[in-house]
Amino acid sequence: MIRGYIEELEEEMKDSLVGNKREFIKRIKVSAKNLSDLVYDILEVARLEQGRLDFTPQKISPPKVIFEIIQGLKIKTEQKNLDLVFENAKEDVDYIKINPNRFYQILTNLLENAIKYTPAGKISVKTRKDKNKKEYIIEIEDSGLGISAIDQKRLFEKFYRVKTKATAEIPGTGLGLWLTKQMVEGSGGKIFVESIEGKGTKFILSFPLIKL
Ligand code: ADP
Repeated sequence: MIRGYIEELEEEMKDSLVGNKREFIKRIKVSAKNLSDLVYDILEVARLEQGRLDFTPQKISPPKVIFEIIQGLKIKTEQKNLDLVFENAKEDVDYIKINPNRFYQILTNLLENAIKYTPAGKISVKTRKDKNKKEYIIEIEDSGLGISAIDQKRLFEKFYRVKTKATAEIPGTGLGLWLTKQMVEGSGGKIFVESIEGKGTKFILSFPLIKL
């Protein structure tokens, strides 16, 4: 609501906005977005903790959904001049059993983080089976800020945010990765992180494959 009106106002006044007024409008927009992200995350945490999030599984083929999510995020990556690619190695059709909304949220959270914490370069999503062909693996890799070994240990804690010069100006709640981990594990999956500070980060998801 606030965001809709402020954008309307900005559009109507775009030729008459002078001096710091333009900056004020920009700040209102950023604050409104941060506030709505915070409310959304807190509501999701509450739903999850009260057992109100639906985990009812359905059979899905991940590449189709991943492709749609990537399409939806293209505007954000283009704005930052980032490459976002989906490398789907095998032509085989593999299925996992997961609630489609939770799957969508997990992938979106990780990809939005990758975009947020990557100032330049590339983000890739790769899918494959593990060598025993029992697990479906999804890797989300970016060439962004990276995360130190110390921070990696605490990354999935509720409200934990990495504090460095590079992250100081980036807004967030520290709830996204906690939520993501709960959703992955609630769906029978696992999540791991590998990262080198200054080089980039890879999040690895693993879900049991359905035997057909
Ligand atoms: P936030 O709302 O702060 O983004 P998250 O729980 O999603 O919260 O992430 C926790 C912290 O982990 C972030 O503050 C950020 O510093 C770090 N982080 C998450 N994803 C990435 C990534 N892809 N690259 C670098 N740092 C990341």
